Amino acid sequence: MSTTTTRNNDVEEQIKALLPENTDFETAQYEGPELILYTDTPKQFTNNPDLIQEIAFKLKKRITVRPTKHAQQPKSDAKTTIENLVPEQATITNISFHDETNEVFIEAKRPGMVIGRHGDKLREITNETGWNAEVLRTPPLETSTVTSVRNFVTQDRQERREILERIGRQIHRQQTSSEEFTRVTTLGCCQEVGRAAFVLSTGDTRVLIDCGDKPGSEDEVPYLQVPEGIASGAHSIDAVVLTHAHLDHSALIPLLFKYGYDGPIYCTEPTRDLMGLLTLDYLQVAGKQGKTKPYKSEHVREAIKHTITLGYNEVTEIAPDIRLTMKNAGHILGSAVSHFNVNSGDDTVVFSGDIHEEPTKLFNGADNSFNAVESVIMESTYGKDTDIQTSQQDAESKLKRVVRETIQSDGNVLIPAFAVGRSQEMMLVIEEAMRSGEIPNVPIYLDGMISEATAIHAAYPEFLRDEIRERIFQEGENPFLYDQFNNITGGETERQRVSDDGPCIILTTSGMLTGGPIMSWLRHLAADEKSTLMFVGYQAPGTLGNDIQTGRKQLELEDWSQQGVNETVNVPVNMSVKTVSGFSGHADRDGLLQFLKTMRSKPERVLCVHGDKDAVTEFSSSIQTELGVQAHAPRNLETFRLD
Ligand code: ZN
Repeated sequence: MSTTTTRNNDVEEQIKALLPENTDFETAQYEGPELILYTDTPKQFTNNPDLIQEIAFKLKKRITVRPTKHAQQPKSDAKTTIENLVPEQATITNISFHDETNEVFIEAKRPGMVIGRHGDKLREITNETGWNAEVLRTPPLETSTVTSVRNFVTQDRQERREILERIGRQIHRQQTSSEEFTRVTTLGCCQEVGRAAFVLSTGDTRVLIDCGDKPGSEDEVPYLQVPEGIASGAHSIDAVVLTHAHLDHSALIPLLFKYGYDGPIYCTEPTRDLMGLLTLDYLQVAGKQGKTKPYKSEHVREAIKHTITLGYNEVTEIAPDIRLTMKNAGHILGSAVSHFNVNSGDDTVVFSGDIHEEPTKLFNGADNSFNAVESVIMESTYGKDTDIQTSQQDAESKLKRVVRETIQSDGNVLIPAFAVGRSQEMMLVIEEAMRSGEIPNVPIYLDGMISEATAIHAAYPEFLRDEIRERIFQEGENPFLYDQFNNITGGETERQRVSDDGPCIILTTSGMLTGGPIMSWLRHLAADEKSTLMFVGYQAPGTLGNDIQTGRKQLELEDWSQQGVNETVNVPVNMSVKTVSGFSGHADRDGLLQFLKTMRSKPERVLCVHGDKDAVTEFSSSIQTELGVQAHAPRNLETFRLD
């Protein structure tokens, strides 16, 4: 589909023409979307920041200046230079050098102090040491995911650089087609929730947006094997864009690498890490349930190695004719509304991904402040006319009341929740209420994948709501480090002890009682009439969560108390069962409409996806009547021309 004629020589000539005479400049090299300028004397550039800005502006490229290997300090000297330059309060925890690529990675608890104002400090480090300096935040809570993802990306720098250079040549290739068009093909997620996968294609480029599974269904996967997909090979896709890490959007991305895809995945940094966590867990669960795993963990590793992370609001060239901008979607950590500027702005397309329009405790509300939007591929999960949510405030008051009453009568509060998102939202609501004295001070236990998911949230404060970010950066108070939070690490014995010890709050997976440590907690607590089981999320029909919510009074549970004995015990549900609705990662009908209504420019057309048949049908007619905008509820495998 694409030739890979490089434009390196051209670009080097262009740069030379922009530089003052006698500037020392060796070569220019594309690494993914970035253009790297190599020089023996980086000072000439860093002492003149306007020059870089001017080149970046004129070439419309993201530019980084790197020193060549000449004039490089020996490692021990460079280490001392770094330690002398960086203020002690930055708290450096690790410095590692990579000879192959001439880079030094500095891990610090306060990375901002290593970077300095407008990147001054970092440039100074590069100038003085002759090593390309990169900064990483030391995660405030231990997280094996962030550590191993960083290892995949930093350990084999040479391989990573080769991948980036190949992607760079691909992005900056000559356009071959004289045809200009923009089309979207739906490979899944239409008149259904799940298996999100869409192809955005132009005369030159094919981009896959999301590639997820369908929860509760094994054979309904995205229609990848059609001509618009990868029927003629995975290489026919130029780029993959991932809106967020939920499995109905991300589960099958590693599968592409099994099929031979070796191009880039664009997403935010936390989405990359959460994708790693969730897809590895997905493989583990499939193994436990005796299902065939669609791919291996090495494909997850390949996916991570091929990921190019983007910050919100960065405009990035991902193909000769497409620029991508991601903005906060307010749905889960790192979730992004993705905007595609096609054919030099002739066509503009937004994929909403999943959104929450209003701010939550964790995140700012979804950002729709794009300059131009002609077409929107819009989630419609709660698009029905009757889909009106309880307000966040009412939900929080009810939660606090239930917690207070249970603890006052000496019971435990058991909250089943998804590990990513809802759990952290609950943690923040509870933490705030406890600090302000609205609920009694009792220990809060985290079980299952929740502690790992929380550590990932704590590692990326810049993706959290303004108020929390400020608390962390300005007041140095990280709510996820609140001293009442405890991780369950001692298995059954600890669960037994915690249940017996009395008043506490337990947050545990799985969110719909389909397995995981919640089953063990039920074994300990279901019969206790003083305790409360509190649902804070949707319980799908057919799950144990839904059964209990609708009145089931007897449970048949595995008996963990007798190790190795495969017996079940009958446990009555005597604990009180409460449902607190209003906590949602999705906008309700009004929120969805508001997201479209408040765009800077009124879109010309909306495709309603990611909702069951009633939701997409009702929402598309709401859009037509209330906004006067053309709207459709497509089926899977339809193609729309958007230019
Ligand atoms: Zn989602």
